[in-house]
Amino acid sequence: MAKLSKFTYADDVPRWMRGELERAAVRYGLQNWAIDFAMAPLDGEDTDNWTVMATTSVLAQYKKGVVLIRHGLRRTAKNKRELRHELMHVLLSRIDHAFRQWLDTSGVRVTPQQEEMLNRLWADAEDEVVEHLLDVIEGA
Ligand SMILES: [Zn+2]
Repeated sequence: MAKLSKFTYADDVPRWMRGELERAAVRYGLQNWAIDFAMAPLDGEDTDNWTVMATTSVLAQYKKGVVLIRHGLRRTAKNKRELRHELMHVLLSRIDHAFRQWLDTSGVRVTPQQEEMLNRLWADAEDEVVEHLLDVIEGA
């Protein structure tokens, strides 16, 4: 498969990951996105009952993103799905961007506690939709 021209990889991103990411990106129509992929420890992202395998940060208005993948992530079916999960977040980021824009510009004031609650509700809902879409696309 031809390398997607706007995708860049840190040297330590394994070949199998690059293939997995690019196949999914083509399938999800993300060829025009500029996404940087790098391996990272990510231990600081973990919670008591959740180990973070990857994180995605996106500037949806510029179609740019950064995906950090946990060091040592092994080549398993579950972990390949984790990679596809992150790209699905990229796909949905335009909706997230609209929500954030509204929060920033509407003049609506929220307390830090309300903002934390909103962020958690939003993140949980988006994760549910991501998983649902993956199930639909992959016929699971
Ligand atoms: Zn997620």
